[in-house]
Amino acid sequence: MFEKVLIANRGEVALRIHRACREMGIKTVAVHSEADANAMHVRLADEAVCIGPARAADSYLNKSAIISAATITGVDAIHPGYGFLSEDADFAEMVEEHGIAFIGPKPEQIRMMGDKLKAREFAKECGLPVVEGSDALQSIDDAKEKAATIGYPIIIKAKAGGGGKGMKIANNEQEIATAYMMARAEAKASFSSDEVYMEKYLQNPRHIEVQILADSYGHVVCLGERDCSIQRQNQKIIEETPSPALNEQQRKELCELAKSAMEKIGYVSAGTLEFLFENGKFYFLEMNTRLQVEHPITEAVSGIDIVREQLRIADGAKLGYTQDDIKLNGCAIECRINAEDPETFVPNAGKITEWHAPGGLGVRVDSEIYSGYKIPPFYDSMIAKLIVHGRTRNGVLMRLHRALEEFVIDGVKTTIPLHQKIIAQPEYIDGLYDIHWLENNIRNFR
Ligand code: ADP
Repeated sequence: MFEKVLIANRGEVALRIHRACREMGIKTVAVHSEADANAMHVRLADEAVCIGPARAADSYLNKSAIISAATITGVDAIHPGYGFLSEDADFAEMVEEHGIAFIGPKPEQIRMMGDKLKAREFAKECGLPVVEGSDALQSIDDAKEKAATIGYPIIIKAKAGGGGKGMKIANNEQEIATAYMMARAEAKASFSSDEVYMEKYLQNPRHIEVQILADSYGHVVCLGERDCSIQRQNQKIIEETPSPALNEQQRKELCELAKSAMEKIGYVSAGTLEFLFENGKFYFLEMNTRLQVEHPITEAVSGIDIVREQLRIADGAKLGYTQDDIKLNGCAIECRINAEDPETFVPNAGKITEWHAPGGLGVRVDSEIYSGYKIPPFYDSMIAKLIVHGRTRNGVLMRLHRALEEFVIDGVKTTIPLHQKIIAQPEYIDGLYDIHWLENNIRNFR
């Protein structure tokens, strides 16, 4: 097994990876920006290397600095976490060229899935249903022509998209020009590529995704689905498994579809296939070739440590079980807690003066925060994930209420009050929500 792994990330996911490594007897190397010298995972790691100034472009996205840190410390492998370089095929290739294992899929798989148009082509070849859409758009007139064939509303999306960026909706021909220009500008700024394409905009879908694990010997297992429909500005806020919207038959169908697609490309490592689900039909959206923020809810119901499996698979181990061995127990919900004003969503970095995380049966908190920690203003505002597991959805909701009530975070504003309001809404309690439900109803929450 690997002896030493470099964690090319920060925040809760860096700590998450550190924990898996420690439990496997693997030494860890933390890399951090000047702003993160006091981070928890930096303190806990066996070694730490400062890779640059606070700005992510100068540190967590600085490939050569990370490779140098890996070479100097003599690691066997690099885990990229999520975000930053986790879906950068060039980085994965660089890592391998230096004789270091990249903990994730093969660079060509990352490259293909990072191009949403190629991913759509692949999905069609595998028999995965996709939303009606276009190829790359050439001009405003081209966009108008294609939208007329597909039918309004449509959504213009960045080919290299991610994180909900570079997506603009047009409800009619008059809105096309603005949507096209804005999507291109945002795509250019976020992904340095202004290529965009178009999809039919579904009105009331749910976002349902499937967790896959695959080893290098062609074994693929599906660890069930996650419903991530509670979103704001295309960003997930609460996720749950199983989805309250699926019956056993649909769940099985989705799992089989995802598995056969992964077998077809010989996918290796953990991955997630994302779908929209509307009127009983699934539509493939994209694949994420990395660990997801919401992976712990799958761990809760499956009992499988996904990061541990990523490490084992990267080291050439076989999956020690088949699909039949996987039993998904109960229900789990995750709340993403952000350091933001719960009404305006303005980020609220600062010093944590008091911190008390909830505990007890079925409660897990993944966070880097400790009392006295100063949240730097340079990065994502998510500061904790609260994951609650139990036998029934009702039981989990009760447990979630009490866990949110126990949570004490002083010094910065957080989105805990928003979570408390969401889980008290009758539609949420009944599992009757789609991707627009939160934004359409948030004004009426009391
Ligand atoms: P990203 O990679 O930027 O996260 P995705 O393609 O995964 O982009 O889409 C993110 C979210 O945007 C989805 O969960 C959904 O809420 C919304 N979305 C994307 N495509 C469509 C579509 N064709 N119709 C309706 N909503 C969509």
